[in-house]
Amino acid sequence: MPELPEVECLSRAIKSVLEGKRIQDVKFYRKDLRGEIPIQKFRSLLVGQAVTKVHRRSKYMLWDTAQGIGIIHLGMTGNVIYRQTPTPELAHTHAVFTVGDKAGDPSGYLHYVDPRRFGWISCCTHDEFPDHDFFKKLGPEPLSQIDLVDYLWVKSRKKTVAIKNFLMNAHVVVGVGNIYANEALFRAGVRPSRPAGKVSRKEMDRIVPSIRETLREAIKAGGTSFRDFKNADGEPGYFAIKLQVYGRGGQECRSCGNLIKTSRLGNRATYFCTHCQK
Ligand SMILES: [Zn+2]
Repeated sequence: MPELPEVECLSRAIKSVLEGKRIQDVKFYRKDLRGEIPIQKFRSLLVGQAVTKVHRRSKYMLWDTAQGIGIIHLGMTGNVIYRQTPTPELAHTHAVFTVGDKAGDPSGYLHYVDPRRFGWISCCTHDEFPDHDFFKKLGPEPLSQIDLVDYLWVKSRKKTVAIKNFLMNAHVVVGVGNIYANEALFRAGVRPSRPAGKVSRKEMDRIVPSIRETLREAIKAGGTSFRDFKNADGEPGYFAIKLQVYGRGGQECRSCGNLIKTSRLGNRATYFCTHCQK
């Protein structure tokens, strides 16, 4: 499943070919993905419009025009690729967006591909955005929220849920997937199973930079080019960072040499070092 770093990398790549350009046309090859595609509304808000901004909220890519916002989500297996032809080249191509200047020839085509169809293509007006079902309950962005330590500290008080599950809850903070939660807690020296409410302020001071470092390394490794980000195991981000604990159960801790332990928290694979993480 594409995680925050992959969606950020893809957004940057698409920004380079779409921002300041116009969506001249769109051809949909089906009416629905995970949900119905609002085809008429998408046309009225996006087609013929200049894209003023390409950005990301959680794992949604957003294309802003004066009329509204295009919403692209990759689901489990989705991708957007840039091509010089409008003809679908890959199986499971569900939409092709024609990109061009105001009056000129098309400069390229964005192909939305999603074999398992858990993704979304949607849209909303600027007024609808704050209360949109996709966005209204989301926590802050881990990379850009300025007072994230304070926020997480206050939010975690009296919470008995494991700190790892707390951080992976998108209603608390978005974009901290399983690999990143494991790696960030190792870097911060905090045991994943610790109740969130028992994490000290000092530890939260380490957890937040650890999350940011881990995500930034993955984004940096992913670069700004269009790429197929899924590895053979279907786990995202795997290629992108040197893993300290994730997937290393029974192997020696790179820091202390003790064996990395495994468990399951919230039914997700959890890896930690009992010596390095308290
Ligand atoms: Zn260790």
